[in-house]
Amino acid sequence: MKTPVSLVIATRNAGKTAEIKKLLGNFPVNIKNLNDFGPIPEVIEDGDTFDENAYKKASFTSRVLGIPALADDSGLAVAALDGRPGVYSARYAGKNASDEDRCVKLLDEMKSIADRRAAFECVISLAVPTGPSLTYEARCEGVISKNPAGKNGFGYDPVFYYPPLKKTFAELSMEEKSRVSHRGLALRELISEFNKVLIWVQQNMPDQEKFECKGHHRNDTT
Ligand code: IMP
Repeated sequence: MKTPVSLVIATRNAGKTAEIKKLLGNFPVNIKNLNDFGPIPEVIEDGDTFDENAYKKASFTSRVLGIPALADDSGLAVAALDGRPGVYSARYAGKNASDEDRCVKLLDEMKSIADRRAAFECVISLAVPTGPSLTYEARCEGVISKNPAGKNGFGYDPVFYYPPLKKTFAELSMEEKSRVSHRGLALRELISEFNKVLIWVQQNMPDQEKFECKGHHRNDTT
């Protein structure tokens, strides 16, 4: 049997890890997350794009831990706000604000705006310790609702109305959301070619250095 490849998901979020573990259940891969290791420095997500942040997280984690790493970066891009909050989605209403604060701020900023088009975007990066990475991107288009609706999900889900299902993301079950969401689509794109990904990983992992022990034998008489 093939030795499984170890892959660390650059997150401490148990839900995210479980979703990926489930999707990769049939592949020879041993999935871990950051909680399986000792303390490692936090990556500063200061890139201008989702790609940059996803690669930064994946590459840094992979170099520090010496095994392949997968990271995602995502956010909400509103057309009438020139793509904001974008990479600032998590910090849109300040550092200590809640999901609810962010939704309220967005609805307030959109109060007199007729063009409500928005998209959730997600980039997944899978990096090896030598530097190279694979990138998967997906987006999910919708509109910003006038009022929040629904209790499921997180972040901007209550104000993101998805026209094909006539519901906000917060009114969908986790399975329904995962079928159409930016993260679900990007993940499934990765999974669809995961056999090729595993070959790429093996070809790009650094060669293990071979150490030779040159200590003296006890009965060495020379
Ligand atoms: P992260 O890349 O998963 O850390 O997401 C960054 C921020 O984007 C989150 O804090 C949310 O505010 C927002 N976001 C990303 N994905 C979603 C989603 O599926 N629903 C709602 N908000 C999201």
